[in-house]
Amino acid sequence: MNPNPELVAQSQQFEKQVIELAPGVYGAVGFAASNVYMLIGDDGAVIIDTTETTKAAENIKAEFRKITDKPFTTIIYTHSHRDHISGATVFAEEGQPEIIASDNFESDLVVIEQRHPAPGKALMARTKRQFGMSLSFPDERVNLGIGPGDRPMEGMGAGFMAPTLHITDDKTTITRAGITLELVKAPGETPDHIVVWLKDKEVLFSGDNFYSSFPNLYAIRGTPYRDFNAWADTLDLLLGFNAKVLAPGHTMPVIGADKITGVLSDYRDAIKHVVSQTVEGMNKQLGPDVLAHSVSLPDSLANKPHLKEFYGKVSWSVRAYFAGTLGWFDGNPTNLGSLSPQQRADKTIRLAGGADSMLVSVKKAAQDNDHQWVLELTDHLIAADKHTRDAKTMKVAALRALADTEINATGRNYYLLSAKELEDTLD
Ligand SMILES: [Zn+2]
Repeated sequence: MNPNPELVAQSQQFEKQVIELAPGVYGAVGFAASNVYMLIGDDGAVIIDTTETTKAAENIKAEFRKITDKPFTTIIYTHSHRDHISGATVFAEEGQPEIIASDNFESDLVVIEQRHPAPGKALMARTKRQFGMSLSFPDERVNLGIGPGDRPMEGMGAGFMAPTLHITDDKTTITRAGITLELVKAPGETPDHIVVWLKDKEVLFSGDNFYSSFPNLYAIRGTPYRDFNAWADTLDLLLGFNAKVLAPGHTMPVIGADKITGVLSDYRDAIKHVVSQTVEGMNKQLGPDVLAHSVSLPDSLANKPHLKEFYGKVSWSVRAYFAGTLGWFDGNPTNLGSLSPQQRADKTIRLAGGADSMLVSVKKAAQDNDHQWVLELTDHLIAADKHTRDAKTMKVAALRALADTEINATGRNYYLLSAKELEDTLD
């Protein structure tokens, strides 16, 4: 394996460390998929987010306990994604802390799982691929794009505690352990986001509305439509705080007002650019397949380290915007009655001069490193059940080759775990 060097370099963001962001304010980065923050007050401490596993939460708590022995009296969830809410029992220790979240606290995962009938199995299989669950580290799973590749897995999802206080107003000021915090509703990666503003020390805890990667406007595990415009508006809201420290849900904190203004403006501009270019194309009657290839960020944004496609991806976002606004139909009447994959495969193979001839083309494409074409041709052979074993073997190799060129960690993981799953069908 020879992973994309930019993706490998991104792993520097996930070195395990506890960072003092301001007097009495600490962030634990690199211990889990997501960051945990601790704010030490007079007679207690506030925890913001709790990671995805009880084991990672225990490791972080052990580090925090080297700094203070004050009880963790309040836990705030920035949003309901599982990588932020699953270590609460660890921080609760013996007591029952207050747990604060938005009044619309509900994960997009839960939305999918609770549908009737729920496509929960599909979501589970795709989630495993997105995060490269059973891949080896570091050869296969380099990192998560916005988190380390080698986090503990014990107690995954086990430490969730339900919120005890739901925030209903757009802005709520609370004082806990002598610390005054503004909790502000900030829909973005999820509709249920709240950000936390520590005004005294000018520290803004942004949840997942910012991390150092192009934003994940669509998660390939499967997700309901994420509201692009709401996220862009929220970035304007975050800019309005003029924070000196930006403490994100993932990746390293950003220090310095000018730097924070720069990254948040870039983030907003990137989202708005994708929306405007996609809408312009849609209004020219172009479909998602065309737009996924034609919409891109200008170099001035695309080259920024905090907009590299380690986690979100522009082309997937374009497709998500199209599907989220106009739905699945691309507008081309041909696609109102598409052939089944097997019908298309049979006809295409015949057109190519038969299955033997198509297999020759597959091998030629592989030699030319035209891996996407290998995938598309082998899918025809597999759908038609012709040279199936050879086609699957060639597809596995192409998936692995694409994984190594891919800068997006979720894409890389998805290719590699899919390759493994397909390889298993050859036994
Ligand atoms: Zn997250």
